[in-house]
Amino acid sequence: MQPIAFIGLGNMGAPMALNLLKAGFPLRVFDLAAEPLRRLAEAGAQVASSPADAVASAEIVITMLPASKHVRSLYLGDAGVLASAKPGALLIDCSTIAADAARDVAAAATALGYTMIDAPVSGGTGGATAGTLTFIVGGTAEALERARPALSAMGKNIFHAGGSGAGQVAKICNNMLLGVQMIGTIEAINLGVASGVDAKVLSEIMAKSSGRNWTLEVYNPWPGVMETAPASRGYAGGFGSDLMLKDLGLAAEAAETAQQPIALGALARELYKQHSEAGHGALDFSSLREQA
Ligand code: NAD
Repeated sequence: MQPIAFIGLGNMGAPMALNLLKAGFPLRVFDLAAEPLRRLAEAGAQVASSPADAVASAEIVITMLPASKHVRSLYLGDAGVLASAKPGALLIDCSTIAADAARDVAAAATALGYTMIDAPVSGGTGGATAGTLTFIVGGTAEALERARPALSAMGKNIFHAGGSGAGQVAKICNNMLLGVQMIGTIEAINLGVASGVDAKVLSEIMAKSSGRNWTLEVYNPWPGVMETAPASRGYAGGFGSDLMLKDLGLAAEAAETAQQPIALGALARELYKQHSEAGHGALDFSSLREQA
């Protein structure tokens, strides 16, 4: 099986890398933090001392970083991925970043003879752990086929959204809808509880009624309603509020470029901005319930 380099072992990257190991891919990993490297080493990965050391002999490079600036600097910087990867390697960025940043990095990669796709994911940390993520790919059909065996080891659904950057556009539309749905779900449960209905009973009713959505089905924001949701572990782990704020900012940028109004997306961004400024940016995005 083709050797893979995996860089960025956070809440999402670490479980994705573990699934590649389980599927039998030889894996070389790098992160700025020591703890996830230790976990991956225990599971059988080789730990690299730098990004250059991680990618030097890999056929496939996968990155899972917080935001555009991290991706730009890791790929384009001195001793970065493009300066160090094996000629002809396949580069897969799974981070959620601006479509323009994805296109810039892919163009620089292509100019050097690499093949690159943007492949942001949906499905949360639960999907990353279970290997059931949805990959939303931007790039050529041939590049997607090269990536398919590795993506299949980490996910269940693989969509081809279009050319370079299209994966990021589709992902941002999805996450804007997710942010709006989370806020709507929080408001509905808060209203029900304030009016005397039990949060779990109300959630079960809405999950089988026309208000049904992903946050009600697998990610309930009310503590104790769903054991596996971040709300039931003090909003730790999961999808950080600052990452949701970042995605709503990307949606605002895309809306400006496309001259497309997004009234609810803009309101959701403002509410997450206030939540972050109140010091809750590191908590899961369902923690907005505590502010609402
Ligand atoms: P995270 O903050 O938990 O992890 C990011 C990791 O990248 C950290 O371990 C950090 O040390 C590492 N890192 C940063 N810069 C680095 C560098 N230069 N070299 C090596 N490592 C570096 O973030 P996450 O929750 O894993 O999310 C990663 C991406 O996936 C984000 O773009 C996010 O929007 C997206 N995403 C997250 C979720 C989720 O539920 N958490 C779901 C879908 C998509």
